[in-house]
Amino acid sequence: MAVNKEVYHQIKTELDANQVTLVAVSKTKPIEDILELYTLGQRDFGENYVQELVDKHAQLSKDIRWHFIGHLQSNKVKYIAPFVYLIHGVDSLKLLKEINKEAAKNNRIIKVLLQVYIAQEETKFGLNESELQSIISEFEKSDMKNVQICGLMGMASFSNDMGKVREELKILKKLFDKYASLSISNFQFSILSMGMSADYQIAIEEGSTLVRIGSLLFGSR
Ligand SMILES: *Cc1c(COP(=O)(O)O)cnc(C)c1O
Repeated sequence: MAVNKEVYHQIKTELDANQVTLVAVSKTKPIEDILELYTLGQRDFGENYVQELVDKHAQLSKDIRWHFIGHLQSNKVKYIAPFVYLIHGVDSLKLLKEINKEAAKNNRIIKVLLQVYIAQEETKFGLNESELQSIISEFEKSDMKNVQICGLMGMASFSNDMGKVREELKILKKLFDKYASLSISNFQFSILSMGMSADYQIAIEEGSTLVRIGSLLFGSR
């Protein structure tokens, strides 16, 4: 299945008008599909699986900004730490510490987002509000110099009820605003990662600064 270039240009125009970043979610898609979008100027790509990300990074241009958007296990951080641009799904202090450790080994500061659980579904990963508060408090007390917390990421329910989706996205935006004014070193909110193929337009209306779009661009998986 080839990339839908027309849709790409249309989405890009829409996002550019709102200064929203597009992460093209290329998980399970072949190198050729990524190259098609790369040729059109796309540089931010998102992957969910460590091994797949490592393989694609090795094969593709080094000016691609790779976003890890899946659930990351601590023991796999080391494989992506040398090159990953932004890790979206941080949902534990243990993982944050591991990223800090591996970033230090690579002489890097790795940008991360904290993942918040906003959907009314049991399968979604992420922190609830009190866990979010506590991880931020722990971070403030710690001395992690090699991670930078840049904002929040979340996924709304897979639902046809767009009113419900909007309410969930509003919760995330509210939390984002709550912590955006905090001044802690290596902690500065600028990225609100919310919105996928099904709900990216609502997400933009609700204040997203970055959307993660897969199937609209690459076809269904
Ligand atoms: C797969 C995935 C996406 C993209 O989903 P689409 O519905 O195909 O746009 C976005 N975010 C995360 C975390 C994903 O796992």
